Amino acid sequence: MADCVCVVSEFRAGNFRRVSFEVASEGRRVADALGLPLYGIAVGSGVSDKAEELGFYGVDKVFVADDAALEHYVAETYVPVMAEIIQGLNPAAILLPASVDGKDLSARLAARLQAGLAQDCTEVVCENGVLKAKRPIFAGKCLAWCEWSQGALPMISCRPNVMDCKAADASRKAAVEKVDAAVPEARSRALSVDLDTSGKVELTEAEIIVSGGRGMKGPENFTILEELARELGAAVGASRAAVDAGWRPHSDQVGQTGKVVNPNLYIAVGISGAIQHLAGMGSSKFIVAVNKDPEAPIFSKADFGVVEDLFNFVPVFTEEVRVLKSTC
Ligand SMILES: Cc1cc2nc3c(=O)[nH]c(=O)nc-3n(C[C@H](O)[C@H](O)[C@H](O)COP(=O)(O)OP(=O)(O)OC[C@H]3O[C@@H](n4cnc5c(N)ncnc54)[C@H](O)[C@@H]3O)c2cc1C
Repeated sequence: MADCVCVVSEFRAGNFRRVSFEVASEGRRVADALGLPLYGIAVGSGVSDKAEELGFYGVDKVFVADDAALEHYVAETYVPVMAEIIQGLNPAAILLPASVDGKDLSARLAARLQAGLAQDCTEVVCENGVLKAKRPIFAGKCLAWCEWSQGALPMISCRPNVMDCKAADASRKAAVEKVDAAVPEARSRALSVDLDTSGKVELTEAEIIVSGGRGMKGPENFTILEELARELGAAVGASRAAVDAGWRPHSDQVGQTGKVVNPNLYIAVGISGAIQHLAGMGSSKFIVAVNKDPEAPIFSKADFGVVEDLFNFVPVFTEEVRVLKSTC
């Protein structure tokens, strides 16, 4: 008989990443369905001061390993520390973020804990005490439902920006227990991390994304997308064609070999809608496509399509947004 449900948080540069709160919210739903308490695992440097915040999203108690040696994610240090904490908790299930680091961590942690990992899930259900998780496979062409055999420990990594995040309840603080976990000497360590300080919204956390493709015709033309993005409070993404051409950095690439994003609104501008691009943005909640070719495959995925030359449409649209904002 298990004692809890565990959620693993992600702490970077002094704060929890938003996906930690989504995972905590989903963990709360699972814990309620199983009638168990929800425990959080928080590992990092300076994480103790923030740990009780996980309670705002439903975590009952947080187990904290706070050590300067854990400032940056390194598998060799994080995995044994987390495994040691989790082994003492006897969980019914473990949920973690399917972020870039989270995917690496969850695979290694699953091997260490002999857990059954369902990676990059978009839905978790609990029917009569039995967990099932849904995950897109084959670049989003199929959806697989996973379940675990009797006695297996389910580990579920949750795709960012998909699970419903509870509204923060600041009156509900989690209990915090510091754990004296031994941090092993790693063969490699991060000397420093250069954070993007441009103030750009991170693609995987953006509510709105404006993406440009080969139809933008050159790097200089992305200024019209940046202007639109500024008005909408959006992040700017790109297709691989635009990235391969050197018009945008690889960190902007959306798709199978780029980032998987799930914004509320995805505006694809001058993008044809190749399967590898759809793999990265196909689960966006609302998709708008701007393309001068009415036969472009992106229109079959779009909720709203604009058949027009983007250089005519985007500046007019940006101006309309500006006017609307000033009258609201
Ligand atoms: C293994 C593998 C992995 C890949 N991974 C990715 C990935 O992660 N992400 C990704 O995006 N791709 C990926 N690709 C590449 C993918 O197959 C496509 O080649 C790419 O997505 C095409 O980018 P695009 O839509 O910008 O360009 P195109 O397919 O050339 O489309 C450009 C579009 O712009 C439109 N257009 C042109 N001018 C205008 C205008 N003035 N106004 C309006 N519309 C205009 C055209 O009608 C056209 O539809 C991958 C491919 C492979 C083989």
